Formats: sequence, structure tokens, C-alpha cells
Amino acid sequence: MTQKFEYICEVYGITKVMTPQEAFKEGWDYPPLMGSFGVVSPRTCGNCLITETAWWALACDKKQIKDLSNKQKETIQRILNESNYTTSSMINV
Ligand SMILES: [Zn+2]
Repeated sequence: MTQKFEYICEVYGITKVMTPQEAFKEGWDYPPLMGSFGVVSPRTCGNCLITETAWWALACDKKQIKDLSNKQKETIQRILNESNYTTSSMINV
């Protein structure tokens, strides 16, 4: 797979454009190799703690959407929009 995607770490907010293999090597927890686009799961780089993610708050801390931080709510919204978003931001190499 040589297609590049824009990766956005939900904890630090850093972004990076790279192939799924490059992201995987750096330890990113991110679709398409980890999880699926459009489905809530962690969206982190290799330096972040999974416990900081919106996914962890919902799945493990059993929080309601309304109890999430604004940043976490934005992350959920972004994930739900990913199927459109990724198609438009994919870069062919
Ligand atoms: Zn990170």
C-alpha cells in the first residue's frame, strides 16, 4: 500500500502524512492497520497513552459522550466523518 493518509494524534494534536506501514512502524494506533475508519477506536501516535483517548473514556471509563472533554468530543466527531474525510485527504504517491 503506497497511499498516504493524514494521521492526527488525538492526544497531542500533531499531524503527519505517511503510509500505513510507516505509521505502524512508528507505533501509531490508527486505521487502516489498527481499527477501522469511521469506527471509534484510539487515534494516537507512538508516544501517547491509550488512557488519554476518547475511546478509552467511553469503553473503559464508561463515560457518556456528554461527560467527555471538548477535545474528546471533537475526536469522536472527526472519527465519525472519517469515511468522507480520508477519501478526500488521501494522497497518491
Ligand atoms: Zn500522540
